[in-house]
Amino acid sequence: MEYKNNNTFSFEKVKTLPNGLGRAGIIHTPHGDIKTPAFMCVGTGGKVRYLSMEDLKSINAQAMLSNGYHLRKPSFEIAKAGGLAQWSGWNGPTLTDSGGFQVMSLGSGIGKVVNMDREKEVVNAAKKDRLTVVEEDGVYFTDPFTNEDEKIGPEESMQIQCRIGADIHMAFDELTSLADTYEYNVEALKRTERWAQRSLDEHKKHHMDLGYYQALYGVLQGGRWEDLRRSTAKKLAQMDFDGYGLGGAFLKEDLGEILRWCCEELPDNKPRHLLGLSRPDDIFTGVRMGADTFDCVAPTREARHGRIYHRYGYYSINKQVHLDELLDPECDCPTCRAGWTRGQLRALKKSENNEEKELYFRLASMHNLRFILRLMENIRQAILEDRLDEYQAQFYKDYYGK
Ligand SMILES: [Zn+2]
Repeated sequence: MEYKNNNTFSFEKVKTLPNGLGRAGIIHTPHGDIKTPAFMCVGTGGKVRYLSMEDLKSINAQAMLSNGYHLRKPSFEIAKAGGLAQWSGWNGPTLTDSGGFQVMSLGSGIGKVVNMDREKEVVNAAKKDRLTVVEEDGVYFTDPFTNEDEKIGPEESMQIQCRIGADIHMAFDELTSLADTYEYNVEALKRTERWAQRSLDEHKKHHMDLGYYQALYGVLQGGRWEDLRRSTAKKLAQMDFDGYGLGGAFLKEDLGEILRWCCEELPDNKPRHLLGLSRPDDIFTGVRMGADTFDCVAPTREARHGRIYHRYGYYSINKQVHLDELLDPECDCPTCRAGWTRGQLRALKKSENNEEKELYFRLASMHNLRFILRLMENIRQAILEDRLDEYQAQFYKDYYGK
């Protein structure tokens, strides 16, 4: 059954994997379609760093994810321009995160960290002097740039996101750390569920303000506990959300199980977004367990640091090897098609000249993003042709050597 809301936002399932969870589909939005599984390029402030909108089109990007926290101040200007798609010049499908993750991680250092020891250290050390305080009405924090005290709760987050006007919004949630206790997770999860209802209520008041339907996803938390993950998925499934965000910090070995618990409880006619992951093995796991869209800053951030993605695993451009080869001879990105060699890119990266450095950032970012976008396209095609197992086996053999 196709899920439709207001005839402008809908999710169409095209093919389902034999496990009943993973699928290929199409998300229809007011600014265009997203063929899933899909990767959304992260343009936190409304632009992917160092890339023009033409660059994004040239790598076949389908959607851009921006951040409600970073765009909270220009949000009034964005609304005046007619919304994020127009303001940014992207003119395609967009999604905004609620800003909860950014606000929460300001104070605690919480990330998508999958190292338990480091996580424990950070949480225990930071608790007493966090820059953020979680209360029932929202999160109080100090802006690290202006030193001003601010508060964002479900209502503020929805008002900000509705001014930004992305096609898809995320409900305001509390991200817990892997090091937080079960008891704390229970408390935080109940708060996130109350915030989910308040997000829905506020969103309904503003979601047509820019003249087109803006969809809202509920966000699932619950840490590593099956009872919490399933109960919150059941509860949010009963609410009037257009789709779901699969949230939380994950240990790599838990990812598949946690996603399975969530997606088994969610309605299968609504889309699901897995927040903040882009390692190829995580993407395969996510797709198989029912995630439709993904986003992550890693492909561009790692490109800037010199980590280049390649069919046979990634390598460092900083090393003095294979300098006259292309980044990846089999790659179809604009950088590789134009014939840029590793040696040329390495020289640009090491250059003292800012323009040359920025050219490196742009060329390397396009290559890494295209690698992930192509992976998603290949996964989708493999699902449609009933050969995901074979495709995955070949990819793992090449990329991970196993
Ligand atoms: Zn390339």
